[in-house]
Amino acid sequence: MPEPPLAAIYPGSFDPMHLGHVDIIRRAHDIFPRVIVAVLQNTDKTPLLPVATRVDLIERSMAGLGGIEVTSFSGLLVDFMQQSGARVILRGMRAVSDFEYEFQIALMNRRLWAQAETVFLTPNEEFTYLSSRVVKEIWQLGGDVSGLVPGPVFEVLRTLPLPR
Ligand code: ADP
Repeated sequence: MPEPPLAAIYPGSFDPMHLGHVDIIRRAHDIFPRVIVAVLQNTDKTPLLPVATRVDLIERSMAGLGGIEVTSFSGLLVDFMQQSGARVILRGMRAVSDFEYEFQIALMNRRLWAQAETVFLTPNEEFTYLSSRVVKEIWQLGGDVSGLVPGPVFEVLRTLPLPR
């Protein structure tokens, strides 16, 4: 029987998705036959956007690329990977400051499931300073985020009332 295509999973909060995430997904799509973007349902944080909206925005932002699967998950990433047939975890590496945390998580995931391999991708330099937190802060202060997020995300942020 032929091997199933190598699937890579890109987990994150994506609250909201920004152009750094888009850059990583494009790079992953060039390498892996199957890319799954997985939005983490994190119960401890108060999100800006509901998980279903984040999934929808990623789907619409990546529609032009074709073949990107977008879903949400809760619980352990390695359990979700085994259910979805993926053994590669994709993570973006913006700067050395990302390294320590990412290295720890990569080793822990492999301890939890020996077949889990983490692959780090670096974005174009112009996106290295971008994070969802920075996007949210600028948006909450009424700044222009149009050059930082994909069009569908900008449209949603534009109509969302600013927090008081
Ligand atoms: P953020 O760090 O922006 O809040 P997430 O928690 O959703 O975003 O991160 C999901 C993944 O995307 C992580 O691996 C993170 O390192 C990566 N990532 C986030 N921002 C960027 C960026 N500007 N360039 C490359 N990768 C990024």
